Amino acid sequence: MTVTVRFAPSPTGQIHIGNARTALFNWLFAKKAGGSFVLRFDDTDVERSRREYADQIEVDLGWLGIEPDVTVRQSDRFALYNRAVEKLKEAGRLYPCYETAEELELRRKIRLSRRLPPIYGREALRLSDEQKAAYEAEGRKPHWRFLLPNFESDPFTTRRTEIHWDDIIRGSQTVDLASMSDPVLVREDGTFLYTLPSVVDDIDLGITHVIRGDDHVTNTGAQIAIFEALGAKAPGFGHHNLLTTVTGEGLSKRTGALSIASLREAGVEPMAVASLAVLIGTSEAVSAYRDMDELAAHFDPASSSKSSAKFDPAELEALSRSLIQAMPFEQVAPRLEAMGVEGLLAQPFWNAVRGNIEKLQDTAGWWRIVTEGPEQAEFSDEDRMFLRDAFDLLPPEPWNHETWRIWTEKVKERTGRKGKALFKPLRLALTGRDSGPELADLLPLLGREGTLGRRP
Ligand code: GLU
Repeated sequence: MTVTVRFAPSPTGQIHIGNARTALFNWLFAKKAGGSFVLRFDDTDVERSRREYADQIEVDLGWLGIEPDVTVRQSDRFALYNRAVEKLKEAGRLYPCYETAEELELRRKIRLSRRLPPIYGREALRLSDEQKAAYEAEGRKPHWRFLLPNFESDPFTTRRTEIHWDDIIRGSQTVDLASMSDPVLVREDGTFLYTLPSVVDDIDLGITHVIRGDDHVTNTGAQIAIFEALGAKAPGFGHHNLLTTVTGEGLSKRTGALSIASLREAGVEPMAVASLAVLIGTSEAVSAYRDMDELAAHFDPASSSKSSAKFDPAELEALSRSLIQAMPFEQVAPRLEAMGVEGLLAQPFWNAVRGNIEKLQDTAGWWRIVTEGPEQAEFSDEDRMFLRDAFDLLPPEPWNHETWRIWTEKVKERTGRKGKALFKPLRLALTGRDSGPELADLLPLLGREGTLGRRP
């Protein structure tokens, strides 16, 4: 059986690094097994789902290096879910309930006051046809609950019913179906909650492994029962720990905080995001890997811890910087070209500046400095006099990496300046900035004429 996984975001906002973790766990799991990856948009909630968000999610995944083999939208698949509903109704596994939210809340409180677990007591199963007809006549519409198989013959006498699965990430897991309420699968207005469409799609698309956040652990017991009620074998499951902000709050799609799009716009490298999203909260050391193959070699779902992991944007920046600074010219050339950094100078320029940038877009400023001229700088009269003398001492061409040393030694000898008093004004005159790449590397890029043009 070919490994088939799916990433199933609801397109209700921008995906964040926590969602990227789920997507990447699936992607790397499939990649290691030579399997395939389905992107499934959970857009049954038509009010909150947006096509723009779905499109943006595809862009974000592509940026991270994830190319789905198949993309489906739940909004195109209602016929399939309706068939499953019919099947469950025929089997007596889906039953109509008429309680309002207030009535349910009241019952919950009563159960709690009697020290009973606050689960649904299946009262709707006792309704006679007349009672149901009376509710309908009142204008009430039913919602539909799935009858969990947690009893022998009388649904009002439940018994401990353990569902086990060997979680790819958390190891052996057990939930007791008698400890939970029959889940609502269809709302009053006929719309589906997430639970049933997800199972129907997992069956239809031949999903072999469901890898998702551990906020879904409790859903898994009921979902395994639904797989079985629909005559299917449940897939394998893996539930990874969730990420929080440094202060411990959960990440949310709706706020756009730490969204993949905002990280991209801020110039963070995609492999830095991917490496951190995968390795944070695992026993693997976090470092930035250059590509998915390298990252896949360090991906072990079972090494994730069970508690949530704190995501620190500063760590992401450091990883991104280390990737950029180590990037060979061949790899970065197309991106530099798109920024207008091209021609014979491009390679030596990259080698000169890469150690001094945080983000790739920082090269643009340095390229302007090298090819157009220094940024604006102010000099004291004394420094200006010194600089004029210094520029008059520029050695003849050809220039190479030694030129800077030869020149500054001569300047030192003639002017008597040394250390900061010597180098700072020179750097400022050449670049307009008081720190940056080695001037020994920059000088040959400027050339004698380009350098002379900077004489204040
Ligand atoms: N749409 C669900 C979510 O985003 C998918 C859960 C699942 O993977 O089954 O949480």
